[in-house]
Amino acid sequence: MYRITEAFWSRLAGLMPGELKQNELIWLASPHQHLSLLTRRRATMIVNRVRLFAFLFAVLTPLWSVIDLAVFPFPLWLNLALMRLLASAAFASLLLYYRPNGNLFDAYRAMALLFAIPTAFYVASYTLLGYYQLSGISAAIGAGYAFLPFVLLAGLAIFPLTLLENLVLASPILIAQGIAGSLRWISLDWPSFAGAFWLLVLITGVSTLAGMSQLAFMIALVGQAIRDPMTGVFSRSSGEEVLELQFTIASRSNAKLSLAFIDLDHFKAINDRFGHEAGDKALIGMTAIVSKNLRRGDMLARWGGEEFLLIMPNTDLIQAEAALLRLRSIGFGLRPDNAPLTASIGIAERSADQATEWKNLIELADQRMYLAKQGGRDRVLSRHAQV
Ligand code: GH3
Ligand code: MG
Ligand code: MG
Repeated sequence: MYRITEAFWSRLAGLMPGELKQNELIWLASPHQHLSLLTRRRATMIVNRVRLFAFLFAVLTPLWSVIDLAVFPFPLWLNLALMRLLASAAFASLLLYYRPNGNLFDAYRAMALLFAIPTAFYVASYTLLGYYQLSGISAAIGAGYAFLPFVLLAGLAIFPLTLLENLVLASPILIAQGIAGSLRWISLDWPSFAGAFWLLVLITGVSTLAGMSQLAFMIALVGQAIRDPMTGVFSRSSGEEVLELQFTIASRSNAKLSLAFIDLDHFKAINDRFGHEAGDKALIGMTAIVSKNLRRGDMLARWGGEEFLLIMPNTDLIQAEAALLRLRSIGFGLRPDNAPLTASIGIAERSADQATEWKNLIELADQRMYLAKQGGRDRVLSRHAQV
C-alpha cells in the first residue's frame, strides 16, 4: 500500500516538473505545515483578491437594477434594487475596512464575508421572487437569480487554496443547497434538482483544482524568492522577515528566542589559495551539514558572504549554547586541504539580553561573534562568557 501511494506521489510530482518537490506536495492538501513566509504571502494575496472582487461586485451589483426595472413589476424591482444597494454597501465596506496584514485567519474571514454577502442576497431575493408568478422574459431573468450558488463555487477558483480549505469553504453552500432541496421535497422536480446539484459538485471540483494549481505555482515562486540561490538556505531578507515575526510572537507571549551569528574562520584564505569555486563548494557543504542537523522550527539564513544567522524560536540561552556546541562538534565541513572548517559564533537571547527590538538581538550576537574572533576563533560566545 505504502509503495503504491509512494509511486502515485512521485508520478504526480513528475507531472509538475520544476514546480514542486515531492515533499512539498503535502502542502497542497492542508495549510498546517506551510512555512510562515508562505502563509503570510498567501494571506496577503487572498485579501487582495477579496478586495478586487468586492470592488467589482460593489459596482456591478447595483447596475443590474436597470434590467430588473425593465422586466419586473412594481414593487418587485424596487425591493430588489434596495437589496442590491445593501449588498453593494456591504461589498464597499469590505473593500474599505479590510487591508492585508499577513494573518491567515483574517484572510479566511475576508473570504467568508465575501461569500456571505451574495449568499444573504441570494436567500432574500429567492424568497422574494417566490411570491411572484412570473412569465416570459421576466421568468427567465428571475430564474437567473438561482444561479448564484454556481457563481460562488466557481469564484473559489480565484483563491490559492489547499484541498482542505476549498472543501471547507464549498461545503456550506453545497449543504445549504441540499437542505433547501429537501425542504421542498414534495413539490420538488427531482431529476432537475439532482442534475443541478451534480453540476454544483462538478464546479466545486474544477474550482478546487484551479485553486490548488494556483497554490502550487505560488509555493514554487515563493520557494525561489525566499532562498539564497547558491546554498538553498533562506536569504537575508526572508531571515529578517522571520526574525521580526518571531520576535513579535516571542515578546507577546514572553517566550524565549535565541539567535546565533555564525562567521566562518579564515574563509578568504580558501578563495586565495584554492580559488573562488572551492570557496563556493565549502559554503554549500557547510549549509548542507548545518541544515541537516537543525531542529524542527529552527531556521538558517545566509546573512552575507560567509556569515549566517540561525534563528531558534522557543529556545533559551542554555539550550541555544548546547545546540551550537553540538553543531560545532559535528563540524562545518572541510577546507579544500582537508583541515576542518571552523566558525566563530555569537549567541543572543531575547529575554536574557533584555532586547526590545529584533535588531538589538542581531547586534548583540554580531558583537559576541567579533569577541569570539578576537578570543582566537573556533568558539561559541554568549552572554556570560565563552562556552
Ligand atoms: P575571519 O576569520 O576573520 O572571519 O576571516 P575571513 O577571511 O573569513 O573574513 P573576511 O570577512 O575578511 O572574508 C570573508 C571572505 O569570504 C571574503 C570573500 O572573498 C569570501 N566570500 C564571501 N562570499 C563568498 C562567496 O559567495 N563565495 C566565495 N567563494 N567566497 C565568498
Ligand atoms: Mg565575515
Ligand atoms: Mg569570516
